[in-house]
Amino acid sequence: MTFVDTHAHLGDPQFDLDRDAVFARAEAAGIARIVEIADHPDEWARAVAIARARPAVARCTLGLHPYYADLYDAAFLPKLRAALDAAPEAVAIGEIGLDYARAEVAHDVQRRAFADVAAAAKSWGVPVVVHCRDAFADLIPILSGVYGGKPEGRRYWGVVHCFTGTPEQAQACAELGFALGADGPVTYKKNDALREAFRRAGLDAAVLETDSPYLPPQSSRGKRNEPSALLEIAAKLAEVWDVPLDEVARRTSANAAALYGWP
Ligand SMILES: [Zn+2]
Ligand SMILES: [Zn+2]
Repeated sequence: MTFVDTHAHLGDPQFDLDRDAVFARAEAAGIARIVEIADHPDEWARAVAIARARPAVARCTLGLHPYYADLYDAAFLPKLRAALDAAPEAVAIGEIGLDYARAEVAHDVQRRAFADVAAAAKSWGVPVVVHCRDAFADLIPILSGVYGGKPEGRRYWGVVHCFTGTPEQAQACAELGFALGADGPVTYKKNDALREAFRRAGLDAAVLETDSPYLPPQSSRGKRNEPSALLEIAAKLAEVWDVPLDEVARRTSANAAALYGWP
């Protein structure tokens, strides 16, 4: 039984002293694959290096988090395209998206950067990793405008990572061809509504992620998170869907492979 951590930030300096041990603990826990996420152009080379050093277990993404959306300019897309062409390890574009909770960038600037990069990703046939905080009312129309509906010839356009919306928003994202990323918050005691969103969305819509070093699950709240904690998220979802853990492993791993085109 193996799992895929579809979203981690192991390039974070919090892992500088023990990054190899973190990968080893993940492997020992059955986390067979990890996707390293780069949020800022200055992190792209680091993410590629992490993946390139571990070809059997790691891939990466190249993104522009909404925190940094004010960096988006006419030079950005050519730079992104060149970076993708230079790095076969890069399996998606992201994080991109909207953050109305913490980002200091004006909302209209975030919307323009997100819509433009998503449209480019679609035209290039590259999946996207979407971040959304307190912004579903704007996110869903942008996804609808860019993507229109489910893709043909593949399962997903991308993933709404660390999904925290309502069951209705989960449904809307799934109907547009987006997977939903499940993280530590599905294990938090008070999050019955979020568990209900994943229960209704079902196993075919979900991928697992830790967002390490952020969002540790219930048993390690307040600590640095790492990919080996993915098991706690998987175990909670096995309860939510009322299926054996190995079925969660098998199906979410298949979803992750389809999402990133990493067979
Ligand atoms: Zn995020
Ligand atoms: Zn993240």
